Parts: sequence; C-alpha cells; structure tokens
Amino acid sequence: MIAILTAGTASRYAEEIVAQAGLAWRRVAAPDLATLTPETQVLLLAGDGRLARDAQDAVARFVETGGALVATGGTWGLERVLGATTRDGDPGGFVIARQPDHPIASAITHPLHVFAGGALHATTGTAMAGLTEPSTYESRGDAVVINRPGKGATVAIGPDIPASVLRIQLGRSIHEDGAPAPDGTAPIDDGILKTDDGVVLAWDHDRFQMPVPVDAPACPGRDDAYPAGDTPWFAHPIADELRDLLLRAIHWAAHAAGQLLASIWAWPRRLPAVGLISHDSDLNIDASAHTTLRLLARAGIHSTWCHMWGPTYPDRYERATFDRIREGGHELALHYNAFDQNGGAWGREHLATQAAFVRAESGADGFVSNKNHYLRWEGEVEFFHWLVDEGIQADQCKGPSKKGNVGYPHGSCLPWFPFDAATGDKIDVIEIPLQFQDLWLTAPPWLASTTIEQARRHHGVAHFLFHQVHLHTKPEVVKAMLATIDLGRERGLEWWTSAEINAWTRHRRDIGCSVVPRAGGPPRLEITTPAAVASVTIALTEPATGTPISAATAGGKGIEIEHATHAGLPAVLLTLDLPFGRTVIDLA
Ligand SMILES: [Zn+2]
Repeated sequence: MIAILTAGTASRYAEEIVAQAGLAWRRVAAPDLATLTPETQVLLLAGDGRLARDAQDAVARFVETGGALVATGGTWGLERVLGATTRDGDPGGFVIARQPDHPIASAITHPLHVFAGGALHATTGTAMAGLTEPSTYESRGDAVVINRPGKGATVAIGPDIPASVLRIQLGRSIHEDGAPAPDGTAPIDDGILKTDDGVVLAWDHDRFQMPVPVDAPACPGRDDAYPAGDTPWFAHPIADELRDLLLRAIHWAAHAAGQLLASIWAWPRRLPAVGLISHDSDLNIDASAHTTLRLLARAGIHSTWCHMWGPTYPDRYERATFDRIREGGHELALHYNAFDQNGGAWGREHLATQAAFVRAESGADGFVSNKNHYLRWEGEVEFFHWLVDEGIQADQCKGPSKKGNVGYPHGSCLPWFPFDAATGDKIDVIEIPLQFQDLWLTAPPWLASTTIEQARRHHGVAHFLFHQVHLHTKPEVVKAMLATIDLGRERGLEWWTSAEINAWTRHRRDIGCSVVPRAGGPPRLEITTPAAVASVTIALTEPATGTPISAATAGGKGIEIEHATHAGLPAVLLTLDLPFGRTVIDLA
C-alpha cells in the first residue's frame, strides 16, 4: 500500500501515476501520519509541502521502524531523514544519472526534462542523479538522493515528478499557434489550433535521431534535409520515463526497507503492451471504407473507426457500411470536426450536435471514443469535460500533426486520466495518445519499430492512425499498415480497439491487491475484484532481506511462478484467473 500526501494541485497527479502502475494506494492527510506503521509500506509525499514538527517526528519513526519514504518536489521538513536539503534556484531542468548501475538511476538513459521542483544537496544521503541547466547542462545540484535511516529507506527527488508529468501530458493552454521547430521540421504555426500547439517539451533537447536501417527505402515521409532519413522526433516518451523514475524510487525504497510490493500487471495474459490502429473517415468515401474493411479482415485485427460529420464533403457512408464496420467487430467512434474550413466549429454544443448526427446516421447508440479532426484543440482541459458530458470515455487527440513532432509530443504511450491542474481533480476520460499518422506518407515506416519497443518498455499502447482514404489510394500505406501489424504481433502485442483499451483500463483499476503481513513468514496477498477476470498477472518486487518467494497457492491450488525484473528489481510474476470477489494467495 502506498499512502499519498500531496501539496499543490498538480502534484496530486502522484495518485494517477501510482494507480496506473497497478499499485494499491490511499490518500492520507497530515494528521493520519501520527498512526502510520510500517504495515502501510510506503509513504509518498508529492509537491512543495512542509509538515508540522509532530508530523515530522511521526514520519521519522515510521521510517526508522521499517517504512519506506519517497518525497518528490520538496523535502517537507524531513531533511534529516532524507539526508538531503533543498537548494535555491529556478524550477525545472534536466535529470541526469550519476550512478547508472543503481536500480533507480538505471532508468535514466538520457537527460529527462522536468518542469517543477528543483535541486537538492545530499548531506548524509547518496546522490543517484543530478539536475542540470536546461540549455547548458551545467550542474544545479542533486536530483535524486537515497538514504537508509534505521530499518527503513528513503528517496528524495528534488524535481516534482507528478507535476512535471501532468504538465508534459496536458501541455500549455492553447489560444494561439505554438512556436515551430527552429530546423523547419515541424511548422505547427499553420493557423489551425491543435494539440501540438501546446507541447511543452523542447525541440532542441527532447527530440532524438534514431538509427536508420541500412536497407531503409525512400518514401514521402523522409525529409530531404536529412539525407540519412533520420529527422529528429519525439522518440522517447519523456513523461513515461519520469513516471518510471518515480516508480523505481517507490519500489527500491520498499525493497531496501524489507517490504514486498504487489502491483497488477498493465494488461491481461501478461501482454507487454497492446497496439491500436485507428482511422479517421474525413472525406466519408464509402469505397475507402470497403477497402479498409477488406484489409483489416486480411490482417485479422479489429480497429477503431472515428467517423466525421463533414458538411463540406459530398460523400456519405451507406447505412450498410456502418453495419459492416460493426459486424466486423470494429469500434465505431466519433471524429469531432472543429475545423472551420471543413464546415466544423469549436464548442460544446457543436460536439453534441455532431455526435447526435453521427449516431443517427450510423445507427450507433453512442460512442466510447473520440478523436478530433486535425487534432483540433483549444484551452487546456475544457474539452475533456465536454467528452464526459457527452458520455464519451476515451480520447485520442494527443498526437502529432507534423513530421518533426511524431512520436510522443505529449510524452506518453500510456492510457492516462487527465487531472485539472488548477483544481487537482481527476477527469473521467482516458487519453490514448497517438504516435503516427499514415506511416510512409508522413513518416518513414521503420519508426514503428521504435514505438513498439517503447510501448513494451512502458507497458503502454502503440497507436497508429491510418486514414481510410490513404489505404484506398496508396499501396505503400497499405504495406506500412500490414507490416506494422505483423511487427506488433512478432513483439508480443495484441491489436485492440480503443473501446477495449478503455474497458480494460477501467476494469483493472477496480482490482484491489493488498499485502497482509504474517508473523514469521512471507506475507499473504488479498485480491478483490467486482467481476471475474481471466489471466491477471501480479508482479511482486521482493524485499532485499528474507527468503525469496518460491511458491504461491490460492485455495490450495499452486500458481506458476515466473522470475522477472520489475521496476528495476528482482520480482516474481503470478498469473491467474480471478473469480468474482476475494482471492487469497499464500506465498512461501
Ligand atoms: Zn480528420
């Protein structure tokens, strides 16, 4: 169990990071700290907070008697316990590894951009990572400091990881065009307000050139200015890497303090990640839909069909085409049109009117998912609230529109819930970010292998948009889609619809898993689920001390144990079918 106490609304995103990682957590208030015992396992403090003297003493006792403490974005008056003090300076910077072999710092494979919190100075603790200036990489001090007071363990992270992750994912509020990439690869200043106008990651520091395959063929998606075919792009999901840093800190602190942590694996059947192919109907050409249906049947996958009300387009799908999409097992979703040149407009009432129109036209009862035409966007989180009002549970708008900002302009491949940074409130919509539009045409197809690997590393979603019209008219785009589907399968991904990703993500969050200590032996796991669910994996990171887990049983029946690495630490994975209600797992 992770007890979470936050200061500042954006720092509350710590709750979402821990929940998405499949860890059990609860919110605590400062007065609760007095009764904290090591049975709580981990205390996570997020934001620039300060505890009263008696609360400081309570936390010190908790750690010294075997609890794990992680603080990010501030030291909360716990400098002695954390072995670190804060340093003055501007917020943000780049986190770099100092001890790259340590389980926490080994997550940092390149400088990680942070936007909140600042540097630390290690006193009695040991620095694992440093914080540098954004432009010069000059040192500002320490970023991650570990310490071992008494029986427990602590990790202090100077930067505010939750607030930084939220900032990268939401971007800035959009009221005007964003600044284009100085190298001309991403002219986002095109007069169309869309999600990539709000990107806060840096063109200069957060994009990467990846190795190009020797046999890489020419394609329109290659940029002549880069003869090697390797345009800088957002090839790393920076927000996911920051999450990983925080999660490794939590797991390491628990491990060092002698605590076993249990988390619910990201996907069923021990899948490393899932893939998503979505389509945007745009011109609404019936024949394009038929071609796409044939291709998907050939590939043997189901996809998500975002359908648009396009008053300036002469074409319409026949009702029978909508029926074929549904009968093919595909998801019919909404493609909200807020692009004035195509007859659309931005506004809550326009969204509602268009949704009603496409429902009537297609015979759909409603939509689980939406993607906006041209990835149109204004403001910060208002649109998420409109979706909630419309009963739409998943969104796909956070993605690239230009060659030089493909990949992860909003830093993530995970299905994530937005929080309103101003209030700290969770918004009940799942964002499923998009990495590419029409491989071959707008970006070289080989880039797909990078995002499939990133999805595996972070257990996220590799999401590719292919417009039906390009599949209908461009054989090379067809080839790119089919090759991407094959590659995903080879790398262990299943291809799901956005509705399936939404349903699983919500379902998984309802599974509870608690570690119940037992005197003189390994703890017991208690799992609860409001509905039966097949093939769920539980990852157990083991404590540094004690006998390793060698057997697990539920109701007297043995569960197969798989040894693995999780959050940078040795772990065992248990995969089992969960019946409705409560399941108790005994470990030995
Ligand atoms: Zn569109």
